[in-house]
Amino acid sequence: MDGVQTGRFAPSPSGYLHMGNLLSMLLAWLDSRALNGRMLFRLEDLDPARSKPAYAAALAEDFRWLGLDWEAGWPDPAYAQSSRTRYYEAAFAALQEKGLVYPCWCSRAQRLAAASAPHPGEAEADPGCPCAWLSRRQRAALEAGGRSPAWKIRVPDRTVAVEDAHYGVFSQNLARETGDFIIRRADGVFAYQLAVSVDDLLMGVTRVVRGRDLLSSAPRQRWLIETLGGQAPVYAHGPLLTEGADKLSKRQGALSTQVLRQTVRPEALTGRLAWLCGLTETDEPLSPRELIPLFSWDRVKREDIPLEFGKFSEFP
Ligand code: GLU
Repeated sequence: MDGVQTGRFAPSPSGYLHMGNLLSMLLAWLDSRALNGRMLFRLEDLDPARSKPAYAAALAEDFRWLGLDWEAGWPDPAYAQSSRTRYYEAAFAALQEKGLVYPCWCSRAQRLAAASAPHPGEAEADPGCPCAWLSRRQRAALEAGGRSPAWKIRVPDRTVAVEDAHYGVFSQNLARETGDFIIRRADGVFAYQLAVSVDDLLMGVTRVVRGRDLLSSAPRQRWLIETLGGQAPVYAHGPLLTEGADKLSKRQGALSTQVLRQTVRPEALTGRLAWLCGLTETDEPLSPRELIPLFSWDRVKREDIPLEFGKFSEFP
C-alpha cells in the first residue's frame, strides 16, 4: 500500500440518485479529499435484472454536475461489477477451500419463514439453516433433484467489531446476529456482501463511507475480507435522510437529482446538504471543494435527518 487513502462511490445503476444517495456520496468524497485521498467510482451492477446502463451514465453526470470527481472507475469496465465475475469466482473458490461454503436448497419462502421464528430472547437471531447440516445422503438427494442451490457461507460463533469512524464501535456475534448468509444466488449471481468485500479488498479501498443502513453489513464485510487474507478498510457511516418514517428511496422520484437539476444550482444543493447534515450553520451555497476544510466527522449529525419536502424544495 502506498499510504494514500482511497475512498469510493459504489452506487447501483437501478434508478436515479436521490438526495439521500447524494449526501452519502458527498460525505464519501469529503472524507477522502480531506485526507488528500483519491476516489474510485465503482458501478455495482451485479444484478442484471435491476441494472440499466442508462442509469450508470446518469449517475456519472450527477456526480460531475455536483462537483464530485474521481481518479479511477466508471466508465472503465474494470470497475463495473458485471465484468468482475472472475474475481468473485476466485474468492468463492478460496472460501470453499476453507470448508466455509455450503449449498442451500431452502426456497426464499422457507428462508423467510425460518427467519420469522427466532429463538426466545434472540429476536435478531437466525435460527440456522437446515442445509448447513445435511448428511451426505440428504445432500446427494437434493443434488439429484436438479434444482440449483444458493451458496451460503458458514460464519463463526464469534463477535466481530468494527470501529466506525462516525458511530464508534459496532459489534455483532455473526452466528447469533446475522447467521450464515448467501454469497452466491441460485441463479449464479454473486451476492452483494461477497462482491463488495472482494472489490474493496482488491481495489485497495481504505475508507468505506456510505449510509447508516449498511452499518449492520460492516462486521460481515470485515470478516469476509480478513478471511480472504486482507485488511479491512476503515468504515464510516453517515446519517440517512428520511421522509416520514422511511429512509428516502429511489422510488421517490420527486427528490431525484434528475428532477432537482432542472431548477437548482449545484452549489445550492451542496450548501443545503452540508447544512442538513451539520457541517455548516447556514445553507448558503457552497461547492464541495469549499467544504473540504470544514469537513470533520465530529460535526456530522448521528441522528437521521427528516426532510420536509415543501420546505426543502425552496432553494436560496
Ligand atoms: N451499491 C450499494 C447501494 O447503492 C452501496 C454499497 C456500499 O457502499 O457498500 O446502496
